[in-house]
Amino acid sequence: MEREAMDFDVVIVGAGPSGLSAACRLMQQANEAGRELSVCVVEKGSEVGAHILSGAVFEPRALTELFPDWAERGAPLNTPVLRDELYLLKDAAKAQKLPNALVPKSMHNTGHAGSNGAIGSNDTSGSNYVISAGNLCRWLGEQAEALGVEIFPGFAAQQAIVDDAGIVRGIITGDMGVAADGSETANYMPGMELRAKYTLFCEGARGHIGKQLISRFDLDAGRDPQHYAIGFKELWDVPAEQHEPGLVLHGSGWPLDDKDHGGGSHGGWFLYHGDDQQVMVGLIVDLAYRNPYLSPFDEFQRMKHHPLLKRHLEGGKRVAYGARAITKGGANCLPKMTMPGALLLGCDAGTLNFAKIKGIHTAMKSGLIAAETVFTAIAADDEGGKELSEFTHAWESSWAWQELQASRSFGPAIHKFGTVGGGAFNFVDQWLGGKLPLQRDTTPDHQLKKAAESAPIDYPKPDGKLSFDKPSSVFLSNTNHDENQPCHLKLSDPDIPIARNLPEYAEPAQRYCPVGVYEVVEEAGEPQFRINFQNCIHCKTCDIKDPSQNITWVAPEGGGGPNYPNM
Ligand SMILES: Cc1cc2nc3c(=O)[nH]c(=O)nc-3n(C[C@H](O)[C@H](O)[C@H](O)COP(=O)(O)OP(=O)(O)OC[C@H]3O[C@@H](n4cnc5c(N)ncnc54)[C@H](O)[C@@H]3O)c2cc1C
Ligand code: SF4
Repeated sequence: MEREAMDFDVVIVGAGPSGLSAACRLMQQANEAGRELSVCVVEKGSEVGAHILSGAVFEPRALTELFPDWAERGAPLNTPVLRDELYLLKDAAKAQKLPNALVPKSMHNTGHAGSNGAIGSNDTSGSNYVISAGNLCRWLGEQAEALGVEIFPGFAAQQAIVDDAGIVRGIITGDMGVAADGSETANYMPGMELRAKYTLFCEGARGHIGKQLISRFDLDAGRDPQHYAIGFKELWDVPAEQHEPGLVLHGSGWPLDDKDHGGGSHGGWFLYHGDDQQVMVGLIVDLAYRNPYLSPFDEFQRMKHHPLLKRHLEGGKRVAYGARAITKGGANCLPKMTMPGALLLGCDAGTLNFAKIKGIHTAMKSGLIAAETVFTAIAADDEGGKELSEFTHAWESSWAWQELQASRSFGPAIHKFGTVGGGAFNFVDQWLGGKLPLQRDTTPDHQLKKAAESAPIDYPKPDGKLSFDKPSSVFLSNTNHDENQPCHLKLSDPDIPIARNLPEYAEPAQRYCPVGVYEVVEEAGEPQFRINFQNCIHCKTCDIKDPSQNITWVAPEGGGGPNYPNM
């Protein structure tokens, strides 16, 4: 069957905060200028928001730039942050609250303090809000469509079209109706070519096309290796009497153990009280951990038993679960974001400010700047395909870039000096306006210690009230993939999991995957590697953390994957 082709001025891959902000801004400018512009967004989730998972405490600065009247338009920002506390969990029972004066400025979320991230200055754009990023994207999608953007949910971009001259000319969406053995079923539909003057890649953390483009155009030349975390989140309905809308708690320490014998694991947790009697609880585990026995999922489950967290959840009901990688390397690792005919934006590039664990506002800002750059080019009758280096200048003049610059030592300092030492470094660095010596981390996250040199970790069994197992968790992510399709988790060498990863690293895929996609089972007395790809929630951790770098995540048939509600 022939592949259909459609032409647009701009094709955007991914209906997340960066992609939808870019789409809205492009159309706003076109409408203001009275100029025809065709903009299309492809989204692999079954609907806009279905694959969006975030904390989220949201800084509305970029949103206010895009829609100054967002409140009148009904943007889902209903819960301003009213109380903000930071804790160090010392062990399974003890917690120490950090006095306000010792809390790094980047971790202040109430009122105006620090919310523009510029060290020592006050924000002018208002409070932070506890939001559902999924609902923010659903709302942004509605705004985009009202402005004239075409959104195609259920369509995954499978590859970039790069012509012989090395210019990105658009994307090809995935074929539909391909059977597990690669044959065409009765529902077969070849993917479409969506051709564009400019293509914006906004796939979020570890985008699979983004990864190919970074390699093809050498976008990360001279940068430190990118760093990642895996972030877990659950949504709980809690009793009215223990609900305090606008309460925001963050913390670090237990259960993660940054001593080397504990695997050198770092990270932090969050617990936010949103609207509708809901609490969002999560743990972010830095993927630089070294102990192959560490299970980020089990760390998260046991964390909820700490008395400080337990009292917010007890008597409540867990209603949603999910996990997603976070691109956290910041300015030291940010690749070049331009290439001929295309831009790499948001967490696909790595615009998140890890000092705040916030990336929605900076992803949106990258989308706004891209839209302004691309529209200026198209309005000047540019035929497309150029490398828009004007973007780099505009991006590096923006408040988002200043934020990333100011926090560039944050992650490396924690890797180097541990949670407490690194926290102290960052506190002083923020007070001095980033004057302490620059810290860098050039060790890629996938490097693990050998199993023989690592201590196994004995995790408590879930109690079914506060903590749960993987099968009941994946159930709450509403994940669905048609089983009769090729596995989208590609092994470069199918023998590596059993021949190398099992003896050397006790095959860590069994533990780092948050939903148990990877199993080592015994068949006829021999270990076999099994991939239950139907359960994949598209977090991308396997693509990052496999010690042999043998797993490549590619997009499955569009519409598959989690169906997150208000995550
Ligand atoms: C647990 C957790 C907590 C967080 N907490 C906060 C917080 O409190 N505040 C904050 O500001 N930030 C937070 N973040 C970070 C924030 O969520 C991200 O920085 C932000 O979502 C990045 O936006 P994006 O548009 O770059 O990508 P995403 O939000 O990841 O959106 C990408 C979209 O592209 C789609 N897509 C990907 N590949 C394809 C493809 N090939 N074809 C079609 N569609 C595709 C995806 O399905 C998705 O819808 C948190 C993240 C996590 C995981
Ligand atoms: S298979 Fe990979 S991408 Fe899918 S849920 Fe597991 S770790 Fe995440």
